[in-house]
Amino acid sequence: MYDIKALYEAASVEDAIRLLQEHPEAQIIAGGSDVLVQIREGKRAGAELVSIYGIDVMRGVTYDGEDAIRIGSLTSFSHIAASPIIREKIPVLGEAVSLVGGPQIRNIGTIGGNTCNGVTSADSASTLFAWDAIAELTGPEGIRRVPIAEFYIKAGKVDLRPAELQTAIIIPKKAYEGYHGNYIKYAMREAMDIATLGCSVNVLLAEDKQTIRDVRIAYGVAGPIPMRAPSAEAAAKGRPAARETVDAFARAVLEDIHPRDSWRAAKAFREHIAVEMARRALTKSIELAGGEIRE
Ligand SMILES: Cc1cc2nc3c(=O)[nH]c(=O)nc-3n(C[C@H](O)[C@H](O)[C@H](O)COP(=O)(O)OP(=O)(O)OC[C@H]3O[C@@H](n4cnc5c(N)ncnc54)[C@H](O)[C@@H]3O)c2cc1C
Repeated sequence: MYDIKALYEAASVEDAIRLLQEHPEAQIIAGGSDVLVQIREGKRAGAELVSIYGIDVMRGVTYDGEDAIRIGSLTSFSHIAASPIIREKIPVLGEAVSLVGGPQIRNIGTIGGNTCNGVTSADSASTLFAWDAIAELTGPEGIRRVPIAEFYIKAGKVDLRPAELQTAIIIPKKAYEGYHGNYIKYAMREAMDIATLGCSVNVLLAEDKQTIRDVRIAYGVAGPIPMRAPSAEAAAKGRPAARETVDAFARAVLEDIHPRDSWRAAKAFREHIAVEMARRALTKSIELAGGEIRE
């Protein structure tokens, strides 16, 4: 049973803000793949909803004036994976969101919903952390742009003010130009399962392809919210693209992450696979960047 008190359908971003101001208890619904499950489970009985699903300007992948990649928050996972811009510039994001649920969920689920639910296992989130994404938030006071790492406050809570909605995810040019990345999802089965651990790495090699000029790594489910692993990044930045560097990078991950025991996996198991995932994702990223790991 869906116990819904009222559904208000927004025709534009301004209309959504007005509806949220008029109905302060109402919750935003986009694709509904999280919200409707919660309502059916009785967690939000009698909910008022503001649907933003019809706001077409919030859908699509484009470049802005500064060549940043702009992903409208209503863009579905299928749409992201098929976008020529994503395929050319950040194919790893398309690959990551292609691992979400199954085809129906990828058609209805949106990147805005995936990040605004504040869940650590969100398959888009670690890649967005690793690519220095920015959340664009629009509300009664206008537009704010917040780095994705600051957008997440704690498990299930993101930096959304009253009557504010996330209108886009932005990846600045300096965060993607020349970078190549890889996402690994470890789950208990191949489809329709959330991540036991997710790891996203990207790398920028020097022109000779022998030195790691920059590297970024982020995890999902390695803590209550998605996170970067700065010790690992420091262990590899400016170092040769060699086996020794990759091993040091992978070991350093343990200084940053703090996964927990859950019914899916023990903390010790998550730590074990986190190191291996870092090793494999960096190795793959270096290969994708045209480098070769020296033994
Ligand atoms: C069977 C099944 C399998 C799944 N598998 C996966 C998986 O493998 N990986 C994974 O990451 N997720 C998975 N999910 C979770 C879900 O599909 C994703 O989190 C999806 O991205 C949610 O998007 P949505 O548009 O449906 O969000 P909704 O359910 O509409 O909203 C989710 C939350 O975000 C808020 N919200 C949505 N959009 C905005 C916005 N633009 N601004 C402000 N707040 C907003 C809503 O108020 C709500 O709190 C699965 C879900 C189901 C039902």
